[in-house]
Amino acid sequence: MPTEELKDDAAKYLMQTYARQPVSIVRGRGSKVYDLEGREYIDFVGGIAVNILGHGHPDLVQAIQRQAAQLIHVSNLYYTEPQVKLAQILVDHSFADRVFFCNSGAEANEAAIKLARRYGHEKHGAGRFEIITMKNSFHGRTLATITATGQEKVQKGFEPLMPGFAYAPFNDFGAIESLISDKTAAVMLEPIQGEGGVYVADEEYLKNLRELCTQKDILLIFDEVQTGMGRTGTLFAYEQLGVEPDVMTLAKGLGGGVPIGACLAKDSVAAVFTPGTHASTFGGNPLACAAALAVCRVLLEGRMLEQAKRMGEYLAKGLADCKDRHRVVRDVRGRGLLQGMELDIDAKAVVADCLARGILINATSERVLRFVPPLVITQREIDKLVDTLSAIFNQRLLAGKDTHH
Ligand SMILES: *Cc1c(COP(=O)(O)O)cnc(C)c1O
Repeated sequence: MPTEELKDDAAKYLMQTYARQPVSIVRGRGSKVYDLEGREYIDFVGGIAVNILGHGHPDLVQAIQRQAAQLIHVSNLYYTEPQVKLAQILVDHSFADRVFFCNSGAEANEAAIKLARRYGHEKHGAGRFEIITMKNSFHGRTLATITATGQEKVQKGFEPLMPGFAYAPFNDFGAIESLISDKTAAVMLEPIQGEGGVYVADEEYLKNLRELCTQKDILLIFDEVQTGMGRTGTLFAYEQLGVEPDVMTLAKGLGGGVPIGACLAKDSVAAVFTPGTHASTFGGNPLACAAALAVCRVLLEGRMLEQAKRMGEYLAKGLADCKDRHRVVRDVRGRGLLQGMELDIDAKAVVADCLARGILINATSERVLRFVPPLVITQREIDKLVDTLSAIFNQRLLAGKDTHH
């Protein structure tokens, strides 16, 4: 179907929840995707940190094909090997002892929130339910997770929100200390705020937080939905930050594009989930778990983490050089292949300019460009991005489009 027709039908038949770019993507290979007209794009969006192995990775494709032919779904009333194997590999390579599987980041965070409330109830009584989250955070779009998300724009119009949440500014330990009370069950945060504009948590802050939580038996929950699965150069971002959480959530990259989420926890915490307390029909089904297992194996057995780390450094350096050359760039920040570039101007226009020049990027918060490519991104593709950004900034300056503040 021609792109124009597809746009018209999308306008007619879909709920209008997304502002889409005017392209119809039909296939992908590695870190490139192709539109209906055959145009090639370098993919620095990667399904928003989802296509961790790139498009069409043979191991992932084969795992999905094999599993689809054998068994796509069976209820959690029965055992399936891919689910248990995936849990084992995640446990073997993390702080956690047990895993609950679901289908998305929001659902993984719902599990973490329920787990924290139940832990609070069982260990300290019914008054211990409050969860402290961060301003400018992002935890999903369900009612509980928009409440956890410290951004008014995602909550507006959906009130009443879920009770039992409090908010602290990110990287402000004093604020958390003053919010903590005998109601506090957990503190939940992203090690790097992704949707909020790519802000990295300070190590000192996390250390203090870890100590405080341990001392008061408050759960520390890391939302690694975006930062997990090698994105920052280690399997999980917390590994580089010198602290371990009690609970961690994953989704996005976990299935390499197949929907799957996970909530991981220490034994002492996981124990409060007993049969009947939580469930998900599709959660951990054989197809999704076979895909995630293939992703984990590629990450752990190959050199992809190393590659991601190197390319992350290369990308950060390229963007930093770009900042030195262009006044319009205010800041570059991130870790590994999760990088943000804060501009003096509306980021959306730059996203459109990049699209026209064959590069997919995305804007998060009004003035921040976000780069979350597949881990297979190459040096040459990164060079192309940096050169393209430079050309765009130069052109905009010449055209007098941008007035600086
Ligand atoms: C994307 C994201 C979510 C939500 O994941 P969904 O799969 O869209 O529900 C939650 N937390 C973080 C940190 C995210 O980046």
